[in-house]
Amino acid sequence: MKTTKEKICMFQGYKTCLKGKIIMAGPCSVESEGQIMDIALQLGKMGVSILRGGIWKPRTRPGSFQGVGEIGLQWLKSAGKAAKLPVGCEVAQPAHVDACLANDIDVLWIGARTTVNPFSVQALADRLRGVDLPVMIKNPVNPDLELWIGAIERLRRAGISKIAAIHRGFSTARDTIYRNEPIWRIPMELRRRMPEIPLICDPSHMGGKRELLKSISQEALDLLYEGLMIEVHPCPEKAMSDSGQQITSAQLRKLLAGLKPKKELTVIRDYMQHMAGLRKEVDGLDHQLLDCLSRRMEIVRQMSLCKQKYGVSSFQPHRWSAIVKDRTRYGVARALDSDFIHDIFDQIHEEAIRQQEKETDVIPQKKAESGH
Ligand code: PEP
Ligand code: MN
Repeated sequence: MKTTKEKICMFQGYKTCLKGKIIMAGPCSVESEGQIMDIALQLGKMGVSILRGGIWKPRTRPGSFQGVGEIGLQWLKSAGKAAKLPVGCEVAQPAHVDACLANDIDVLWIGARTTVNPFSVQALADRLRGVDLPVMIKNPVNPDLELWIGAIERLRRAGISKIAAIHRGFSTARDTIYRNEPIWRIPMELRRRMPEIPLICDPSHMGGKRELLKSISQEALDLLYEGLMIEVHPCPEKAMSDSGQQITSAQLRKLLAGLKPKKELTVIRDYMQHMAGLRKEVDGLDHQLLDCLSRRMEIVRQMSLCKQKYGVSSFQPHRWSAIVKDRTRYGVARALDSDFIHDIFDQIHEEAIRQQEKETDVIPQKKAESGH
């Protein structure tokens, strides 16, 4: 598998943060010339990779803010120039692609509501034929990996070579803390099937609230994502869209400072080797446990014959109490939890009784009353 460094060569020359990650930050929507310039200058100083800003906003209900439209592309580009940052925005229709190309936008992304529709994706792919810009594809709104892969394939067939995938979570019927549930196994399967595609996580749309940004971002770094897309606004409370999930640039600085990127392949290989050694040891110990259990049951069966000979009952309450006491003391002294020890010996004892009854042809009891 390619390393992050190899995968993000599609963003050659872009700045990176967190030991080589692509950080795309900026407002949900470009709202005014001043707003985007303001945040761009702040983000430029922080050394993020790409300035984002939505121009045409896919809103659930008509009548809500739909984005400023084409005029915003000029504001976005000049803010990027002033801050020395490449800029990116969402395209949903071929006309958006034309407008972005006319305004020298550096990176395009396809939104979650567009990825679900193969007609729309194909129309974008057709318009992008021969264009050499990086294109990022958000996962479809619904948890359907094939749609996501299909969208990537449509772009590829149109000759687009710089493609990244953005994981922004999925709309599901389950009641979760997320605005869009991550379902991490889907992007992991995407990576297994298309290992060369960089994965960017969008914790803003996934969490839907500021408080979740850190944990989601860290999870993405733990899973070796190639970057993050985070919504940042000069004054989040006043944002015209997605107000509750946007943060200030100062909060972004703090967020990034608190994240720990995880090591990559070569070191992971060491980790795998180390783990392989530990797992072998665990396998061996488990076999020893089973050998011990098997031997223990054999002795129990011998005891049963002895008890039978002398007409003694298979269950001996005093002996059982003594066993529990002794094993708990012995196990606790070895840093084992007393409830855990109890549970294990309950199971062992129950099986021992069953074995003894079987040996003496008595119908097995469900569970012996141990009286403890
Ligand atoms: C966005 O990035 O502003 C956006 C609309 O995201 P999504 O397509 O993930 O809903
Ligand atoms: Mn948004």
